[in-house]
Amino acid sequence: MTAADDKLKEYREKRDFARTAEPSGGVIEPSEDHRLLCVQKHAATALHYDFRLELDGVLKSWAVPKGPSLDPADKRLAVMTEDHPLDYGDFEGVIPAGEYGGGAVVLWDTGWWEQDHTREKKPREGGPSTPAEHLAAGELKIILHGEKLKGSWTLVQMKGRGERNWLLIKHRDEASRPGYDLVTEAPLSVLSGRGVEEVLEGTPPVPGSRIAEGGGSPPVSPAADDAG
Ligand code: MN
Repeated sequence: MTAADDKLKEYREKRDFARTAEPSGGVIEPSEDHRLLCVQKHAATALHYDFRLELDGVLKSWAVPKGPSLDPADKRLAVMTEDHPLDYGDFEGVIPAGEYGGGAVVLWDTGWWEQDHTREKKPREGGPSTPAEHLAAGELKIILHGEKLKGSWTLVQMKGRGERNWLLIKHRDEASRPGYDLVTEAPLSVLSGRGVEEVLEGTPPVPGSRIAEGGGSPPVSPAADDAG
């Protein structure tokens, strides 16, 4: 039993892997220089966006009811959910009705992320340093390198409103777009070019999309790209 197995206990307990096509975890080995970012648009009982950041062998996960926004004025509620396995990073498909989270899942964005040290408060002795420590302290500044989500963001815990409630906020920078409605303007899968209805109906991937061209895996960080 690894540390990641321990963190995935809740994830596995909620699911029957004989019935859902979701991964049970353990296929992808974690790596330091490849911190995965993925966002899944999930048409469950209520439509939401699952925002996931690789950290220490699992995907830390938040359900964002309204989805991420590139407008710094939009403070989007992000409810922390159970850690997911790394191989969830390219999952797209239908979770059967009656199963946990039943409904269509679209891979809405993928890429990688890094800590935004330039936005962090001045480091202090014994203060948070690693991403895990910043999360434990209730505030993590990140730079996203997704296809849709880019630039600097903050995840901040809403103190006193239940420890699972966070806000996902875009910082003002070259990637911010005040007034822009990203989830409406860019609704489709970055993997297959499909929307949630098409995934639900089993429509084949759009010709020219990444998966139709034979590339199913999420992109990797530039460091890994350079290595070939
Ligand atoms: Mn979900």
